[in-house]
Amino acid sequence: MNAKQFRVAAKAAIDEIANYYDNISDHRVVADVEPGYLRPLLPASAPLDPEPWESIQSDIQSKILPGITHWQSPGFMAFFPCSSSYPAAIAEMYSNAFNGAHFNWICSPAVTELETIVMDWLAQALGLPECFLSGGPTHGGGVLHGSASEAILTVMVAARDKYLNEATAHLPEGEEKEEETWRLRSKLVALGSAGAHSSTKKAAQVLGVRFATVPVSEENGFSMTGEALTKTLDELKAKGLEPFYLTATLGTTDVCAVDDFPSIAEALAPRAGKPGEVWVHVDAAYAGAALLLDENKPLAKPMADFHSFNYNPHKWMLTTFDCSAVWVRARGHLINALSIKPPYLRNQYSDNELVTDYRDWQIPLGRRFRSLKLWFVLRSYGIRGLQAHIQNGVTQGESLEAKFVTRPDLFTIFTKARFGLVSFRAKGDGEDQINSRTEKLYEAINASGQFYLTSTVVNGHFAIRVCTGVAAIREEHVQKLFDLLVETIEAQLKLE
Ligand SMILES: *Cc1c(COP(=O)(O)O)cnc(C)c1O
Repeated sequence: MNAKQFRVAAKAAIDEIANYYDNISDHRVVADVEPGYLRPLLPASAPLDPEPWESIQSDIQSKILPGITHWQSPGFMAFFPCSSSYPAAIAEMYSNAFNGAHFNWICSPAVTELETIVMDWLAQALGLPECFLSGGPTHGGGVLHGSASEAILTVMVAARDKYLNEATAHLPEGEEKEEETWRLRSKLVALGSAGAHSSTKKAAQVLGVRFATVPVSEENGFSMTGEALTKTLDELKAKGLEPFYLTATLGTTDVCAVDDFPSIAEALAPRAGKPGEVWVHVDAAYAGAALLLDENKPLAKPMADFHSFNYNPHKWMLTTFDCSAVWVRARGHLINALSIKPPYLRNQYSDNELVTDYRDWQIPLGRRFRSLKLWFVLRSYGIRGLQAHIQNGVTQGESLEAKFVTRPDLFTIFTKARFGLVSFRAKGDGEDQINSRTEKLYEAINASGQFYLTSTVVNGHFAIRVCTGVAAIREEHVQKLFDLLVETIEAQLKLE
């Protein structure tokens, strides 16, 4: 494809993409192809000779679209949103045009410098404490990773090395220090609440450290408390283990619970800032975007007591996948754990520490130009426009909850609407009947193709969760979902 053909093909693709968004409600939300649908539609091997663009492009409609689940559809209320926007899409085009690996500052100074600036803008917009700003008093700062899972693994590496360095600081360099480090490594435990996302357990698995769960209870709204944490820490220490890391969550995956940050900070206070302290990372992958609203700003304050924080603008903040924003209070811990300086990466700017090299803040070497899309989104919407988008998701969740309340004969609220997520169950006599009715309802709604919802099981309770964060969701869609739920469960009850 030459430049002339690219101009024609790319402009046509843009028209097709805009049409797709204009008519997104015409598709059933979740794909209904069978596993393996694609193989019989494609040749057994790649073409030897070039194919004309027209035949490649037409396969999008005929072969790919049937296998797409439409995440931007107003019927998509499953998982969490993965939101896109036109400004972010345009940024991706430029980012792809400048395509590079950008591991050092000199690899494209704008890529590094824009990231530092935009991460400071974003930290301010969320109301994060000053310690997370690049120019803040504790030498913190933000970096863009691809996913929350990557962010959690990365900060866990920094936490591990910080802990081991502190625990062996009294020993002189040499064999004894080495032995003690490896002995301690086998005792390390990473913690998360029972509601923490599975990525914490996975990170522990990857790092080869133990993982322990802090229990949560229904009475506390499934939120981790300092009391439960203290109990778990005491149990682990009594076994001779070394708890070094904790994921606290702002907006858990199943029910959007918020951990009790002040009591967690209090529980850890005796050791805070001293060798052997537990590194606390706050995972706000989905709900962090809600800190844009002034009413949620108080939730950002306690972050000053914690070591790192992440949220995904690619979830609820109109910035295309992938874009996970991570901040640390002291960047030195990341750099100490992850910096490697082979001769081919050395250059005058990096060697004299005049610049930031974000490769030392992440696991991969190369990196994408992700800050461009955040910059475009922040400027195109403004903070006020983004607040209006988040507020819409919150309002639609509350509206759905209010509708459930009008039919106490059919539904019970499981967890109240928070950050655009509400979960509910069918009414019934006893747990078994409630679970089976709810599950049946859930399957029927998803089979309809009009909406896509997710279920969860919390402490043995089967519940349906509805997330209203997709940008296109309006009152009419929430009403339509509610009507379908009522109609479906009434039909179900008649057959019982
Ligand atoms: C979505 C989510 C994750 C996982 O995010 P990835 O970016 O896909 O790794 C982790 N934690 C929470 C709280 C989430 O909502």
